[in-house]
Amino acid sequence: MTIKAYGAHAGDQPLQSLDISRRAPGPHDVQIDIAFCGVCHSDLHQVRAEWAGTLFPCVPGHEIVGRVSALGAQVSGFAVGDLVGVGCLIDSCQHCADCASGLENYCDHTVLTYNSPTVDAPGHTLGGYSEKIVVHERYVLRVRHPEAQLAAVAPLLCAGITTYSPLRHWNAGPGKKVGVVGIGGLGHMGVKLAHAMGAHVVAFTTSDTKRQAALDLGADEVVVSRNDAEMAAHATSFDLIVNTVAAPHDLDAFVVLLKRDGAMVLVGAPATPHPSPGVFNLILKRRSIVGSAIGGLPETQEMLDFCAEKGIVADIELIRADEINAAYERMLKGDVKYRFVIDNATLADAA
Ligand code: NAP
Ligand code: ZN
Repeated sequence: MTIKAYGAHAGDQPLQSLDISRRAPGPHDVQIDIAFCGVCHSDLHQVRAEWAGTLFPCVPGHEIVGRVSALGAQVSGFAVGDLVGVGCLIDSCQHCADCASGLENYCDHTVLTYNSPTVDAPGHTLGGYSEKIVVHERYVLRVRHPEAQLAAVAPLLCAGITTYSPLRHWNAGPGKKVGVVGIGGLGHMGVKLAHAMGAHVVAFTTSDTKRQAALDLGADEVVVSRNDAEMAAHATSFDLIVNTVAAPHDLDAFVVLLKRDGAMVLVGAPATPHPSPGVFNLILKRRSIVGSAIGGLPETQEMLDFCAEKGIVADIELIRADEINAAYERMLKGDVKYRFVIDNATLADAA
């Protein structure tokens, strides 16, 4: 079936309206009419070929929510009309140790929602800046929020799970001091989630103007990271820091804020490396710098259910599909509170 999408033919070209095709649902497939798709900084990195290996045409988008519109004959877990979500993964090998543990995100054969090789035309996956998507049922999530919140649920599918997973893995909760660095799409979800888990949350921002906004998101304290005195006041005090910054920066400035055995989890994925951290800051207090990639399917469902129960959604700005190029420029300036979400109904008449 031919549908409307929004994507780019090259890294130095703007995104534009494209016609793409989707396969008919196979036996285990769920076809989804996409209502909304969040705009992740990863979309920008990939479509502008900042990361290696972008396959063109590139249709980004991995924060997908919508309604089931058709089902394969053997799908048992979903019905037509169900509210569902799709995140960064639409397939994996399904039998390795990672997949068996529900950590499909660490499988060596993940099929990402866009930019992964596939048997379907044009030979690589095309993401959620499109009217419909067809996905194996294992990779489809159930949305239990009220339908009125659907647009604001979309960012949970990447920004939500990418911060939820390390917060859970490193035991954020009561009695723990947790920092979140970079109050953008991921970071604002990190603040909300760490607060809901009961941790003492400190938001680190480069933007003095986000001070009050970060408190409103649920931070207990806000530190403007350009201010050395504010940073020094938190030396050797954090159990965990989740660093979402999308650009290379001095990691040592945050490592020294970790207490003994504390960890800083890098989830931000800049196109060029961070300056190498000083080893003595790590050795002397057995601190660690680690990484974390999105989350597995069971944990993503757990996160969605946690958010539905606690009434957590993203703070969003809804845009038309043909506003995406301008939205990317604003995202680069940090001028979004805190996630752009595309209204996919506007794809039909987008220029
Ligand atoms: P975003 O909305 O653009 O937020 C990034 C934030 O980082 C900015 O709002 C800004 O917050 C802070 N920042 C400080 N200095 C910056 C600089 N020089 N350039 C850009 N940002 C700067 O991006 P996002 O969608 O949250 O994504 C953040 C990063 O995570 C991206 O690299 C993305 O590719 C990556 N990511 C990784 C995973 C994973 O699985 N690990 C998943 C999704 C995304 P302040 O104004 O508060 O300083
Ligand atoms: Zn993302």
